[in-house]
Amino acid sequence: MQSPTGPSAAAAAAASSSSSSSPPTVSALHLAHVPDGTPVFSCVKCSEVLALQDELVSKAFMGRSGRAYLMNSTINTNLGKREDRKLMTGKHTVADLHCAACNAELGWMYIKAPNGEQRYKEGRYILEEAQIVKENGW
Ligand SMILES: [Zn+2]
Repeated sequence: MQSPTGPSAAAAAAASSSSSSSPPTVSALHLAHVPDGTPVFSCVKCSEVLALQDELVSKAFMGRSGRAYLMNSTINTNLGKREDRKLMTGKHTVADLHCAACNAELGWMYIKAPNGEQRYKEGRYILEEAQIVKENGW
């Protein structure tokens, strides 16, 4: 059984034809993607998408630099090391939140809250308003 095109023939064909004939390669460098037109928050420094606006829980939070948003989730972010921090509402265990693309400091994640009243914040994220831009609406 002979295949009509051997490996060398296939390689020659691939090299001579344009890249449109080969399936698109997903770039590993690109971080999480959201569909065009989805309302998002982006990094003020590098424009990387950081969170979906649908994931907003509350705008009534204070960050280090002023107003901040509480988010259910973020994307394209990295966490720093966890530490205990005294906040207005008591001692929390938090980890700093950084942009995965440019490493800008964005806010923090609540890992542990001091009591039942504050516990809804656990596993959620603070994005400082000064570090993000709104895109697509609102
Ligand atoms: Zn960034």
